[in-house]
This record gives sequence, structure tokens and C-alpha cells, in this order.
Amino acid sequence: MKIIPIQVLEDNYSYILIDDTTKEAAVIDCVDPIKILNVVSQTGAKLTSVFVTHHHWDHCGGNIELVAKKPGLAVSGADARIPDINFVCKDNEEFKLGTLVVTPLHTPCHTKGHVCYFVTDHSTNEKAVFTGDTLFVAGIGKFFEGDARDMYRNLFHVLGKLPDDTWVYCGHEYTKTNLKFALSLEPHNEALMAKWAWCQDKQITVPSTIAQEKAYNPFLRVNEQTIQLITGKSDPVEALATLRELKNAFRC
Ligand SMILES: [Zn+2]
Repeated sequence: MKIIPIQVLEDNYSYILIDDTTKEAAVIDCVDPIKILNVVSQTGAKLTSVFVTHHHWDHCGGNIELVAKKPGLAVSGADARIPDINFVCKDNEEFKLGTLVVTPLHTPCHTKGHVCYFVTDHSTNEKAVFTGDTLFVAGIGKFFEGDARDMYRNLFHVLGKLPDDTWVYCGHEYTKTNLKFALSLEPHNEALMAKWAWCQDKQITVPSTIAQEKAYNPFLRVNEQTIQLITGKSDPVEALATLRELKNAFRC
């Protein structure tokens, strides 16, 4: 599979996902249809689908214009608030994009209808997950329509269960700010220091991997003693709630 990150608005990511075998393509989160269609036309792929992670405008505000320009697109998601949605994907119910297998993972918390898309290419054994505003590089999304228990489930029972070598493509470029917060908590974490050094000259810091996130993302480390000591909570769900509040208040 081929994945092309496209920077849109101030710090959002859209992605073009292409099945190399059939040249079928999907866009993950469309807010700038002109930009998306330009990139797709340069690849020679055929856009057939839109995978929407959640209903926030900066992730699907371009749907209506895109569908008007390309009638017949399948628009997937799990929230009636998504414009032009025509395929409601069920949790863990696989579907195909060409030869790629797509597994929608329901991850309610940032919004109630949030979906992450796990994609497997069986011809190359590559795996990728599009995490929208649930999991970022070194961070997570805000809990607008859920609580720490919901996010704990998303992180530890859903995304954290994916294979370690799964590429992580998130919905925003927040990496440097997230890493500053993480470093304020774990200044001696070597994976964290290495990621910080690596990202300094990068405009685009996706993808990471599930294994990397487990090593430096503080929200995936609420079972570690370092994070529990800082939050003063030995219960990982409570630690996650406290960590979210600390991050909300954090200023670089
Ligand atoms: Zn959002």
C-alpha cells in the first residue's frame, strides 16, 4: 500500500491511501477537496472512498464538495453528523479497498462516533492505522464526548492491541508540543529523547508505530510507575484522567 500524508489547514492531516495492486484509493478525512483531488490525479489512482474518522469540521468539512465533484464515492464513518455519509461502518466489521483489508475500530471519547481505520496489505504484510483525533504522535485527543475510562479502553484494549509494527497516521501535527509535555514528565526516557532529537528538522512527523508510541507516549504509559508517581494515581484510568488535565493546562 501507499500512503501520502497531506498537510491541510493549520496543522491537520488528510491521507491518500492507495492499493498498489488495483490502484483504488481512499482519502482519510477530507477538508480540502481541491488539494486532495490534485494529489490523487498525480498518482494515477482512482479515488473510490472517503474514510472519515469523526464529524469535526476539520476532518470532513470537504465531503460535500468532494462528493459533488466525484459522484459515487463511498463515504464511511460511524456518526450521523458526518456530511454525505453513506456507509455506516460497524466496529471490527472488515471491508475492502481493492485488495487492502480495512477494519474500522470504534474509539468513542474524543467524539462518540470516532473511528480509527486499521488497514492490512496481505501482499506485503504492511499494516497502518489512521487514528484521527484519538491517538497522536506522543499524545491523545481531548475527551469531548467521553471520559478517561473510554480513552483507556481505546488505548489499551483497541489501539494498543494492534501489532507493534503497525504504522500510526494521526489527524494533526502536534508532535513537538506533545513531546515537550512528555519530556516534562519523563525527562530521562531514552525513546522520548531520541524522538525529540529526530523531529527537530521535520515538518511531517508521521508515521510513528504502535511500538514507538508505547515507548514514549505518556498516555500509553499510565501503567508505568514514573507516570503514576507524577499523577499521584496508582489506578491507570485515574492516572489517565489526571494526565489529560495536566496536558490541558500545559504551556510550552
Ligand atoms: Zn476532532
